[in-house]
Amino acid sequence: MTKRIGIYNGSLDQLDKIVVSPMSRAFLFSDSIYEVIPFHKSEFIGFQAHIERLDRSAAMLDINIDINLCTQEIILLKERSQFPSGYIYYQVSRGIDQKRSHIFSGGIPETFGFAEPHKFQQSAIKVKLVPDIRWGRCDIKSTSLLGNTMQMNSADKDGCSEVIMHRDNILTEGGASNIFLVLDDVIKTPSLDQNILPGITRDLVIHTIAELDLKVMETECFVEDLKIANSIWFTSSTKGITEVESISNLETSIKKGHPIFSEVSKRYIEKFLT
Ligand code: PMP
Repeated sequence: MTKRIGIYNGSLDQLDKIVVSPMSRAFLFSDSIYEVIPFHKSEFIGFQAHIERLDRSAAMLDINIDINLCTQEIILLKERSQFPSGYIYYQVSRGIDQKRSHIFSGGIPETFGFAEPHKFQQSAIKVKLVPDIRWGRCDIKSTSLLGNTMQMNSADKDGCSEVIMHRDNILTEGGASNIFLVLDDVIKTPSLDQNILPGITRDLVIHTIAELDLKVMETECFVEDLKIANSIWFTSSTKGITEVESISNLETSIKKGHPIFSEVSKRYIEKFLT
């Protein structure tokens, strides 16, 4: 088996040889941000948007990153990966502390990344509706993902591979994806706020929909909408566009292979995955 390659603070090595300090603020506090940047046929998908989001996440947490250096490391990882389709996982932590303290003292940011092979196209998935129990700044792509992992593991026990999260019956997003609904030929997606990650794929899909002369409403979406939706999809860098087959704990009117889903998905695949 090919050994996976990683990069830690600028040094390339086999992933399983990389050693990290337990005093890293990523380890102690999840004081770190990350990106998952997909590539297909050795071309990045939405590269600049991912880099800009990494820079924004860092700025929001006041982590002083060198975005040009991060960009170079991400490109290097893709070049060194020995597969044409996959993604780069890349994270930056605030750095390593001498003493564990909530108050940070201006260390040097710590960078880490690796390349992972991946097939992007997925068949429809079963999902679970769950309350959104996460913190109040889900627009920052931080590695603090306990709310997501708790809910996704609870869904996994019910045979579901994703969740649809809601706060007081208002839909936010999936555990690792954004959500779109089709209701009587109208495509809707929750409008962005501090409870939702501004997904790069969400944005690419919104542009794809516009090219098809279809309309998408960025608006408040409700649990009630799920019951009457004809089609529900997730978008993410690793899922691309993936249809929901059923919701384990909610009756819906979903029809798999809905013509609007098929049209948008076909165009997205033509643009980015062929
Ligand atoms: N929301 C959450 C919570 C996510 O973890 C992800 C995947 N990173 C997304 C949305 C989709 O974002 P993107 O399209 O940039 O992968």
